Amino acid sequence: MPFEKLGLMADLQRAVAAQGYVRPTAIQAQGIPVILQGRDVLAGAQTGTGKTAAFTLPMLQLLNQRKRPKGSAGKTPRALVLTPTRELAAQVGDSVATYGAHLPLTSAVVFGGVKINPQKDALRRGVDILVATPGRLLDHAGQGSVDLSAVEILVLDEADRMLDMGFIHDIRKVLALLPRRRQNLLFSATYSNDIKRLADGLLHSPAMIEVARHNTAAETVTQHVYHVDKQTKRDLLIHLIDQGQWFQVLVFTRTKHGANRLAEQLNRAGIDAAAIHGNKSQGARTKTLAGFKDGSLRVLVATDIAARGLDIDRLPHVVNYELPNVPEDYVHRIGRTGRAGEEGAALSLVSDDEVKLLRDIQRLLKKTIPVRPAPAYEPRVLAAPQRQAVEKSAAGKPRAAKPGGGRARQHAADSPAGARQRRRRKRQRPASGSAR
Ligand code: AMP
Repeated sequence: MPFEKLGLMADLQRAVAAQGYVRPTAIQAQGIPVILQGRDVLAGAQTGTGKTAAFTLPMLQLLNQRKRPKGSAGKTPRALVLTPTRELAAQVGDSVATYGAHLPLTSAVVFGGVKINPQKDALRRGVDILVATPGRLLDHAGQGSVDLSAVEILVLDEADRMLDMGFIHDIRKVLALLPRRRQNLLFSATYSNDIKRLADGLLHSPAMIEVARHNTAAETVTQHVYHVDKQTKRDLLIHLIDQGQWFQVLVFTRTKHGANRLAEQLNRAGIDAAAIHGNKSQGARTKTLAGFKDGSLRVLVATDIAARGLDIDRLPHVVNYELPNVPEDYVHRIGRTGRAGEEGAALSLVSDDEVKLLRDIQRLLKKTIPVRPAPAYEPRVLAAPQRQAVEKSAAGKPRAAKPGGGRARQHAADSPAGARQRRRRKRQRPASGSAR
């Protein structure tokens, strides 16, 4: 279906054509007409599906065709988009400006981590569309620099992330500042019970739109797993980047410290890399992201929170250097690749202690992620089930274990994994001792 059939006005079609979009994505084809009708929407869509344009285009059209209601003081916001992160807020703000280039509507973006005064100035000048993270928006409300009583359209973007990040109370406080009559659009990649509860309280007979099945990964993403020892992950990653001549790779680590360390190690190996996480200043994050987008930075190492909502066109490679603790985060992570119909590859480096996390992810995806062999980087200890068996028998007969009696044990003597094994066995000994 072409864009012209969706009921969008010519100025918006022109802006869309300037972006090179030929046809609407599924979420746009289904979402735009119902949003234009003024209906509430509950949309299940990950980033990469074109969801931002799906709510931004009809929102711009509705605001443009309606007159500012009488009595709404000055130029207070008429549409409010809440996002979980600063980066996503900035990206949505960019989309609003891009798609609304030919319309006489104004917009502003407010988020924390930067000075509040320039934001106050922008709000004072007046905006039609306000894009905000919840915390900073409440700061503005508390200081009287924003009046939300004339909001006609509310968008909760990546609502599941907002709940994961503990924003539910802030969201409820924001809702209390909005007029009762308004259009509500809720976008979420996953449906938890918390999201259902939020949607039930917020939406009035919503149109339900679902472009990917619950919690399934984008189908254009090929996924693979490498089984590898923890201490070999870095070498394997360097090998994959070098051999594959990957030029733009987003790598996920679990901690900020881990992200910094890995970026340093990659740099030492001659691969341009930088870390992005919550401890970095907003300026540093913006600069790093810009370098990664324009191709001057080859590898971006990120934690889950920092990476939420990143919109990088045609990102070809995503690597899970460590698996996330929450299986849904895996879906979010690999949603950074294979965007809007492009092909992408998501690779996970899985060490022995992450096998359970992998199992949880596969259960969520309802599929097994194929394993790719990397002979030179095979784990030096036995695979988990075998190792558990080894440990069990070792715990039962600790003294009978012969040094050098098996491949696993041989390596156990000289590797960090082996040291962990020894510590674990030590802990198990008293228990097995008392059982005898
Ligand atoms: P989103 O899901 O909103 O994060 O969008 C993902 C990416 O898809 C963005 O880089 C958009 O520029 C791009 N995009 C959005 N709509 C279309 C479309 N109809 N055709 C091609 N690309 C699109």
